[in-house]
Amino acid sequence: MSNLRVRFAPSPTGAIHIGNIRTALFNYLFSRSEGATFVLRIEDTDLERSSKEFEELIFKELEWLGIEWDEGPDKPGPYGPYRQSERLEIYHKFAQKLIEEKKAYRCYCTPEELEEDRRKAVERGDIPCYSGRCRYLTKEQEEAFIREGRKPVIRFIVPDDEVVEFEDMIKGKITIKSDTLGGDMVIVKSDGMPTYNFAVVIDDALMKITHVIRGEDHIYNTPKQILIYKALGFEIPKFAHAPLILGPDRTKLSKRHGNTYIGQYRELGYLPEAMFNFLSLLSWSPEDNVEIMSKEEIIKKFNFRRIHSANPVFDIEKLNWMNQQYIQKSSVERIVDLAIPHLRRAGYIDEIDDMVYNWLKDVISLYKDGLQYVAQIAERAKMFFVEEVNYLDETIKILDSPNSKIVLEAVKKAIEEVDEVTEEYVKDLLKKLQKETKVKGKEFFLPIRVAITGEDHGPELVKIIPLLGKDKVINRLKKAISLIK
Ligand code: GLU
Repeated sequence: MSNLRVRFAPSPTGAIHIGNIRTALFNYLFSRSEGATFVLRIEDTDLERSSKEFEELIFKELEWLGIEWDEGPDKPGPYGPYRQSERLEIYHKFAQKLIEEKKAYRCYCTPEELEEDRRKAVERGDIPCYSGRCRYLTKEQEEAFIREGRKPVIRFIVPDDEVVEFEDMIKGKITIKSDTLGGDMVIVKSDGMPTYNFAVVIDDALMKITHVIRGEDHIYNTPKQILIYKALGFEIPKFAHAPLILGPDRTKLSKRHGNTYIGQYRELGYLPEAMFNFLSLLSWSPEDNVEIMSKEEIIKKFNFRRIHSANPVFDIEKLNWMNQQYIQKSSVERIVDLAIPHLRRAGYIDEIDDMVYNWLKDVISLYKDGLQYVAQIAERAKMFFVEEVNYLDETIKILDSPNSKIVLEAVKKAIEEVDEVTEEYVKDLLKKLQKETKVKGKEFFLPIRVAITGEDHGPELVKIIPLLGKDKVINRLKKAISLIK
């Protein structure tokens, strides 16, 4: 292993978003292709919004995708603990150091005062910015505020006239003037919790992170963080801000566009390797432009220099196409296992013994290669699970011909004659009956298909009929015959 270190630092404040997963993936790919250590750090200082359940989801979804970390809350390492709520003393120590060095101070402004400042700034047409009112309080002034019962925050002094510059690995050179950063920034809130910009610097520095790879929404936090790195004499890491994922309308990917929690894709029967592959291609592409790649191939080909700075669009059609390729390559048993919960939910199956399992395997085999995601099976294979099929007006028209009646009667009679309908039997029968009825090809097959399945297309009849079984087939034929005018 090299001494390169990266981290993924999610906040457990919601069901983990696709965009965060993509950030995790880029960190992971960087770590595995460069031999870097990959740290998972939970940023749970927002006590109100953070929860253990959301934290569990982070672990669960990363594991599902095969994104393994080397150090984290569950994997002790040299720079733990890896959960921010367990590091509060560390932040306080550094905040104290900054106060002692006069690089930070306690601020007693009330929310009302700050709101009043903000309102005035907006009225003047200025960008709101902290006034610096508490920068130079005397000891006596501070004591008076404390006696009033005010609880201070700690603010970091942002210089007025500094130009902060950094070379982003994806975006190139970024230059920001310090007077646009909103004034002296809060680093510790009145409840004693550190703010994101402060805790992240302390942690990245103490955890010896060399490359900070995260979403572009943090790009304007970076200069603030750099000022804190400098004030504490920490070495500044390299930064890479990955472009945000957009929806098809080119606005930031959100719930309006569909599922944004990765678990929703898992539940619908998207395969983790398809998801991994798909997400890796949002903003990155290999030199050879091959699209279907295993995790190992992606790691081998991954090169940070090939990350594009343009915003990628989350193209569900492409994901569906890709997932279908992976479903086709999967064993039928795997797809059956993933399909079972969906069939259960639809009320189609209950107990599963060997016989049912084998039957399910045969049924699902008929649809497997056409599935874009496994949940589709419930709708596609519905006719195998329901007693009767519904005939749509469109399809029922197909039955309205004298030949249909002749064909359906003949098939019904032939099936009634045997105890068990095997594939062999159906094959011979369909051949024989075309001769006997003198109805051939489409005119022969289509009415049978419609009568038995309610649809005008689908898997081969010789496969469907034995799997449906004698009783269902006869009942459906009877009903269809009764509907012919
Ligand atoms: N907790 C932050 C987030 O989830 C981390 C950002 C960072 O990587 O610095 O957005």
